[in-house]
Amino acid sequence: MMNNYITAYNSACNSLKNKFLKSLDCKKRGHYDYSYWVGGEIGGVLSFGDCYVSMNDIVNYFKYKLTPDEFFEWYDDNVANVETSGYSAITMKEWKKDKRNRAISWVCRKCGIKAQGEVNFLKTATGTSTWHEGKCDVCKRKNVPVTEPRDFDYPDFTPFLKRK
Ligand SMILES: [Zn+2]
Repeated sequence: MMNNYITAYNSACNSLKNKFLKSLDCKKRGHYDYSYWVGGEIGGVLSFGDCYVSMNDIVNYFKYKLTPDEFFEWYDDNVANVETSGYSAITMKEWKKDKRNRAISWVCRKCGIKAQGEVNFLKTATGTSTWHEGKCDVCKRKNVPVTEPRDFDYPDFTPFLKRK
């Protein structure tokens, strides 16, 4: 009985690993086209190219829909350059959210209040901020007064992000 579950688990891990490696297309990126489960433990730590990932990383890659470029960027930030990137053990989910927030330079008042919440906005609204007429990177409206995300105390804008 238990053996059936373990066989099914190992098979699922190997299928996900194969899809993962195929998706990253390591050969095209000039990485070694060679991989193995460390210690032969299927579903443990996978070694490929110059990278080591856990089974959880492989699952999250698909769960949070990272592109191959984003995966290697996350890997560099989180594992390879952990001392200079300022990150450590950031999950792919959080990393992606942070990356999207970092791409926001200008925010309109409406989006700022929405992301920060009215109560917090009233608390920080007494500070000095500089506004200019421009495009809001969150709602994409043009010719509206915008200011920097720090004037709203860097809230999470990602739930309010609109495309173009
Ligand atoms: Zn806006």
